[in-house]
Amino acid sequence: ERMVAGEMQDDDLSIEQSLRPIRLNQYIGQDKVKENLQIFIKAAKMREEPLDHVLLYGPPGLGKTTLAAIIANEMGVHFRSTSGPAIERAGDLAAILSSLEPGDVLFIDEIHRLPRTVEEVLYPAMEDFFLDIVIGTGPSARSVRIDLPPFTLVGATTRAGLLSAPLRDRFGVLSRLEFYDANHLQSIVERTAEIFQTSITKEAAFEVAKRSRGTPRIANRLLKRIRDISQVKGEEEISLETTNQALNMLQVDEVGLDHTDHKLLKGIIEGFRGGPVGLDTIAATIGEESQTIEDVYEPYLLQLGFIQRTPRGRVVTDKAYQHFGMKGHEDK
Ligand code: ADP
Repeated sequence: ERMVAGEMQDDDLSIEQSLRPIRLNQYIGQDKVKENLQIFIKAAKMREEPLDHVLLYGPPGLGKTTLAAIIANEMGVHFRSTSGPAIERAGDLAAILSSLEPGDVLFIDEIHRLPRTVEEVLYPAMEDFFLDIVIGTGPSARSVRIDLPPFTLVGATTRAGLLSAPLRDRFGVLSRLEFYDANHLQSIVERTAEIFQTSITKEAAFEVAKRSRGTPRIANRLLKRIRDISQVKGEEEISLETTNQALNMLQVDEVGLDHTDHKLLKGIIEGFRGGPVGLDTIAATIGEESQTIEDVYEPYLLQLGFIQRTPRGRVVTDKAYQHFGMKGHEDK
C-alpha cells in the first residue's frame, strides 16, 4: 500500500477516531470553508431550523468526514454516517431517513456512487422531507408517501463534477476543501504528536508537513511511522534527522512524491516527451485506472505545478523536469 495515498488504509482506522477534532475551532486551516459554515450554523440555530444541505468535495484525507461530524456537534444534533455504495436500494435509504430525529445530520460519503434509483428517491427527501416509495410489483404496485423529520444531508465526494446536476443543485452549501499549506499541516502534526504523547521538534514537524501532500491523513500516517523509528532509536524527542531518515526509508521524496508519482511523471517524460498525452493513455502505460489517477494522484501534482492539463492532454512542466535533475522540454 502507498504510504502517501490519501485514501483510508487499515492501520489508519485505529488512530483516526482519536485524532478527529470535535469543534470547529479545533479544526485547523480551511479558513474560508470554516468561516462560511460558522455563519450558516449560527443563522440556522437562530431560526431553530436544520442547517441547509452541505456538499463537501476535495481529494481524500482532507477532513470531509471530520467536518461533517463537527457540523453535527456544532448544531447539537446526532451524526449518522453511511456511504453511497452502502445504500443499494431505496428501502435502505428509507430505513435510515425515517430513523432520524429532527435536525439530525446524515453524512453520505462517496455520494457520487449512490445508485441512480436511490438518488431519485433522495430528491424529494432533500427538498420537502418526504419519500415516495413503490411497494409491490406489477399491477398491485402502489406508491406510499412517508413523511420525514427535517434533516441535514452532508454529502462528500472527491469532485463536485462527479455528481449529477439535479443532485448537486439540491445542496444549499457547496464547499471545496483545499490542500493544506505546510504551516497548517505543521500545526496538525504537532497536535497529533500531543495526542500520541510524544514530542517532536518544530523542524521535524515542518518536514513531515512539507512531505505529506497537503493532506492531514497522510501527515498523521507518516508521523506514526516516524514515531516508531524514533522510539526504537531511544530519542526523547522526534528529531529532524530521524524524520528525514524515516521518510527516505518510506521512499517519500522531498516534496512528498513516491515511486508511483515518479512512474507517472517519468512515464510521460520518457514515453511521450513530456506530453501532451491523454489520461487514458497514461493510465494504460502505468497500469492504473484513469479515475484513480485523476482523483488521487493528479490533484497534488497539479497543485505542485508538476503537470498541467491542456485540451490535448497532460503535460509535464519544466518544474517537474528540474525535480528529477533533468533539463526541460529541450526539443519543443
Ligand atoms: P476525508 O473524509 O476527507 O477523507 P477525514 O475527515 O477522514 O478525511 O480526515 C482524515 C484524518 O485527518 C482524520 O484523522 C482527521 O482527524 C485528520 N484531519 C483532517 N482535517 C483536519 C483538520 N483540519 N485539523 C486536524 N485534523 C484533521
